[in-house]
Amino acid sequence: MSTPPVKLFRINTGSCNGCDVEFVATAFVDKFQISSMNVELVENVEESNLLVITGPLTSKSESFLKKYISKLKKPYAVVGVGTCSISCGIFRDSYSINGPIDKFIDVNVNVAGCPPRPESIAEGIAKGIKVLELKSEGEETPQKIEQILIGFEAPKKFRGRMSLNETICTACRTCETVCPSTAIKITKTQNGFIHNIWHNSCCYCGNCAFFCPTGAIYSTNNFDTVKLQNEKFSDLNTGIINLSTCSSCGESYMPPSSGLLGKAYIHNNLKKLNKSICSKCRKEENFKRMYA
Ligand code: SF4
Ligand code: SF4
Ligand code: SF4
Repeated sequence: MSTPPVKLFRINTGSCNGCDVEFVATAFVDKFQISSMNVELVENVEESNLLVITGPLTSKSESFLKKYISKLKKPYAVVGVGTCSISCGIFRDSYSINGPIDKFIDVNVNVAGCPPRPESIAEGIAKGIKVLELKSEGEETPQKIEQILIGFEAPKKFRGRMSLNETICTACRTCETVCPSTAIKITKTQNGFIHNIWHNSCCYCGNCAFFCPTGAIYSTNNFDTVKLQNEKFSDLNTGIINLSTCSSCGESYMPPSSGLLGKAYIHNNLKKLNKSICSKCRKEENFKRMYA
């Protein structure tokens, strides 16, 4: 006997529509593989056991989300599509936002992206179906589900997950300041800094890379953005930036970027010293070279 199709119902809880356009592409363009899944799009929530949500959850949409949740067929699975649904993204802390959606509903799968690529949305739906199968069999959702649809490929210049070259990061905090979705947090430690990029908040705008003075932060074309809910806060890129000891005075200091120093001291031939001494000693050395 064949298994009845999973019934997918989609709601928009305040999305800018970017995620919805990508969802439509995912649902109706064959190459994104939805057609090969045992899933049917339905217009009546009462028939549905797979809920797909786009948007950060505005104050006006909270009541209808609650109404829809109460009407879903049990057991059901929930897939959040778009960074807004997971963390509110660029709309976090706005006066009209009550989300993210997991404040009101148990989410199973998150598909980050702003908007996510259709391949990621399809992967999210595939994982949502897997969760639903497990729930139907009375099993717990596992901690991780390996990629189901394989063969993702993005164009070379696609802005996917951000990454950090910690060896040239100077913890200047420019990226943290310009990030519109508070995805970057730099924390001072005893020995230096920890640089975190939270992929579930990033909107892939590229601002951090554009303004980084050393080129330490950059986008990759990796769009492996589909994670289970238990991975929501651990999907991070973490860089450890260590302080050095000044070879002149022995104080701890943040090693400067060679590129910037080369430009700053281009006339004073400080390049050979510049990486090993602190900024105070460098100033003194520079002064001596110029006026002694
Ligand atoms: S994640 Fe981006 S594209 Fe999707 S609703 Fe939010 S702002 Fe729009
Ligand atoms: S990644 Fe770039 S902008 Fe961000 S702290 Fe490091 S050097 Fe500064
Ligand atoms: S690309 Fe960079 S600046 Fe833009 S949201 Fe992501 S981490 Fe923040």
